[in-house]
Amino acid sequence: MHFETRAVHTGVNKDTAYNSCITPIYPSSTFYWDDLNTTKGYDYTRSGNPTRSAMEENIASLEGGIDCKATSTGMSAITTCMHLFKPGDHIIAGHDIYGGTYRLFADVFTGMGFKFSFVNMGDSANVKTALTTETKAIWIETPSNPLLNLVDIAAITAVAKEAGCTTIADNTFLSPYLQRPFEHGVDIVIHSTTKYLNGHSDVVGGCVVTRDESNKERVAYIVNALGLACSPFDAWLVLRGVKTLGPRMEAHQRGAMALARMLHEHPAVETVYYPGLESHSGHELAKRQQDGFGAMFSFDVAGGRPAAERFFEKVTLFALAESLGGVESLVEYPETMSHASMTAAARREAGITEKTIRVSVGIEHPDDLVADVRQALE
Ligand SMILES: *Cc1c(COP(=O)(O)O)cnc(C)c1O
Repeated sequence: MHFETRAVHTGVNKDTAYNSCITPIYPSSTFYWDDLNTTKGYDYTRSGNPTRSAMEENIASLEGGIDCKATSTGMSAITTCMHLFKPGDHIIAGHDIYGGTYRLFADVFTGMGFKFSFVNMGDSANVKTALTTETKAIWIETPSNPLLNLVDIAAITAVAKEAGCTTIADNTFLSPYLQRPFEHGVDIVIHSTTKYLNGHSDVVGGCVVTRDESNKERVAYIVNALGLACSPFDAWLVLRGVKTLGPRMEAHQRGAMALARMLHEHPAVETVYYPGLESHSGHELAKRQQDGFGAMFSFDVAGGRPAAERFFEKVTLFALAESLGGVESLVEYPETMSHASMTAAARREAGITEKTIRVSVGIEHPDDLVADVRQALE
């Protein structure tokens, strides 16, 4: 069945008691046993819960995996993956990965004896060069934040296969509607469901999707042993949100394309970073690897910080806020917000300046979004 159909129906139809069309929320922490050997499939909600299972079945199908484990946040999904490895293991990651992931790797897990190399993954040769005999995993995030640099997933998984290491992809920025890393050879996919999968800015959550039995078993064991699973209510909200993922992504990227095209021509704008524009360095790769260009982009405003401040004051439809992937449009300033934990030097090296503004395009009508940004730049 097609993606949109699976999004609506997979995992959903579970209520044999009353035939409810919508998956019930089972907040019960515990489930009673019929006898010493028999449960109805669940015994304790940390280990498993029917509402959470419904959502996990749905997302596993959308990514093309065999299993999914839902976690309390995107960070706990990443924490789960790190527990597949041990101190002394070496992991290669992109130099422009999500800031929270960078902090978890470079501080918390480095402090526990894990070793990391952060490389420019735009060229798979850099990954090859960074390989050591201890390398156990390669962490892929594409497109990157906030400048939408692309990683050739198939090129990286080819290097990983040769070296015998696991590949893990953070697919938060595009969602499985626009990119399915399993199709390019990745072993494990993670999400911050906080973003497009839930899509309504009312949940913080994550998930880990697997495609083989051994990772499936180990991930389920770790999520239970560490106690990282999400609440039944959060799972229910994400399941509700994910049903409209396809139509939402179409609407999101319609607005993004209209805005990016307008800004590309605008005299007050120096550069637009959107893979949907022919001028973007990742345009051809995006066409090959993705089913669309997504709805995140950044642009450099002429006039630096004063111009950016004026823009944030004047936009009305775009809230000044971090996060992304919700139905409402957001703008933010990486310099003092999402990327403030980087040093100024690291930001400059990554190409983030006082001119850079990041946009998460919602599903409002493109004409209204374009008109609002136009007046704010005047
Ligand atoms: C938000 C985000 C995360 C972290 O997810 P939380 O739900 O905030 O814990 C990880 N990766 C990417 C790409 C993100 O955008």
